[in-house]
Amino acid sequence: MTTKTKGLIIREQVVGESDRIVTVLTRDMGVLRAFARRAKNPKDSKSAGTQLLCYSALTVYRGRDKYIISDARPEEVFFELRRDVAALALAQYFCEAAYLMIPAETDSETPLRIILNSLHFLAKGTRPQKQLKALTELRLLSTLGYLPDLVACADCAAYEHDPMYFLPENGLLRCGDCAGEEDVRRGVRLSPGALTAMRHIVYSDFEKLYAFSLPEPALSELAEASERYALQILHTLPKTLEFYRSFAE
Ligand SMILES: [Zn+2]
Repeated sequence: MTTKTKGLIIREQVVGESDRIVTVLTRDMGVLRAFARRAKNPKDSKSAGTQLLCYSALTVYRGRDKYIISDARPEEVFFELRRDVAALALAQYFCEAAYLMIPAETDSETPLRIILNSLHFLAKGTRPQKQLKALTELRLLSTLGYLPDLVACADCAAYEHDPMYFLPENGLLRCGDCAGEEDVRRGVRLSPGALTAMRHIVYSDFEKLYAFSLPEPALSELAEASERYALQILHTLPKTLEFYRSFAE
């Protein structure tokens, strides 16, 4: 039985001379690993639509022990990403983060929507990369069951305090009065602007998610808090993140 779906290619491996095994973040079948015969051959009709970072309309069927892509038509290739090596590296990190965070064969429409929107803004270059990176990490994790508690200080329930400390190890806040030495050492110090942005990313409606701006140095605080939270949950330093760091300003 064949199924039609749409998805973003988040991982691409070449097998043999010309075949490809891809991992696809699909709209309705979760993360799917599938085989595309002869797709590495540029003349094959599946070639363009099974490349990394391509969003494609796919025809998939279940073979004896794996999924097989019988047709792939590119719908969005995010061409502009190829002009900026840092943007491309960050896009690859988004793909690896999705690969590591999203369970197989579940409903993944929301995570896909986040990644596609982030790639769109990344390709256009209209938002700072640091902001898109923090937004993508934090919102993805929040969507996937790792919602940090950013409502108030975990001890005294203060909503605002300058500074607040975000504790990546448990996703909690502690205000400057309640924070112990250990919290100050291991937490991320947040100015009021950085905390407001973090709350926006985690709690806002999707329609408003990308509509904020944050100046330095608060943007760097936000970036540190979300990256450390992501690494805490991933338990690993993704290679693509290491690679992106070598280009990022
Ligand atoms: Zn407190």
